[in-house]
Amino acid sequence: MEIPFLYSPEQAAFRDRLETKVSHWLRPWDGAESVLAAVIGVPLSKSSISHSGASMTPAAVRAAFKSFTTYSLDYQVDLSQLPVRDLGDIAMHVTDIPASHKRIEETMRGVYSKFPGLLPILIGGDHSISAPSVRAFKDRYPGKIGIIHFDAHHDVRNLEDGGPSNGTSFRQLLEEGVVDGANLVQIGIRGFMNARAYHNYVTERGVTVFSARDVRRIGMAEIMKQALQIAGNGTSAVYVSFDVDVIDQAYAPGCPAIGTGGMNPWDVMDALHQLGTWPQVQGIDFVCIDPTQDVRNITSRLAVQFMLTFLTGVALRSPETK
Ligand code: CA
Repeated sequence: MEIPFLYSPEQAAFRDRLETKVSHWLRPWDGAESVLAAVIGVPLSKSSISHSGASMTPAAVRAAFKSFTTYSLDYQVDLSQLPVRDLGDIAMHVTDIPASHKRIEETMRGVYSKFPGLLPILIGGDHSISAPSVRAFKDRYPGKIGIIHFDAHHDVRNLEDGGPSNGTSFRQLLEEGVVDGANLVQIGIRGFMNARAYHNYVTERGVTVFSARDVRRIGMAEIMKQALQIAGNGTSAVYVSFDVDVIDQAYAPGCPAIGTGGMNPWDVMDALHQLGTWPQVQGIDFVCIDPTQDVRNITSRLAVQFMLTFLTGVALRSPETK
């Protein structure tokens, strides 16, 4: 016998017939659909040099999908028909961090071999996940790759004091020759959060650095013009790595390395949209959120807004470059 008004929790939620929520659209992959872009969770935080619950981020981000509609008023794009699906999480080793990094690299190689044209959206995890992710990304292309890296930190710490960690990814990628300094652009790097030695290190390697102050003085539109030119110069594809701690702690309180003097969300929104429109961008990650330290999921929700904003750009790519 049917009990009136009793439905499963999912079906019982209020639903407006004219509205599509991200949670309705960005579903788990069904094993057969063709996909343009896909979310992949990378729940690793044991490699963080500071206390981090970043392994909880993929779940927190997915939980926030129900708080967003698929329609962007700002960019006049509705994402609901864009074939984006959720491929799930990469299972981490419980105690062995290098083994977890190997799993990330191996999984991403597997993803690229199964879905040759896929644009992956990795949800970390701490920033150590970017090194294995970019290694796999690099091998998709015959030539060089570029990286556009948003962060408060250079992430080029020495490996002797405890790497590979979330503080070393870009040193590893530079020293392994995965990316040339000439094609790496770091945006939003902040004072009092890095050692001079590391600023000197990236400068000597030819990395282009735009500080948080540069963003304020020059403006992101001009920075992006230069960043696309530098990361795209002689490269086959560009990877975007986005550490949410590039945003000021007032807007992103749930980052392990929160800090003052950072950017606000609208400093990066147009940049993410623009990167989405650019066919050369073929992979992106969002890292270093700790949902256990967050306040009302502000930071996970911000990451969802950033991801959706990037996808509004992807939706505007011409069909052959998507
Ligand atoms: Ca970082």
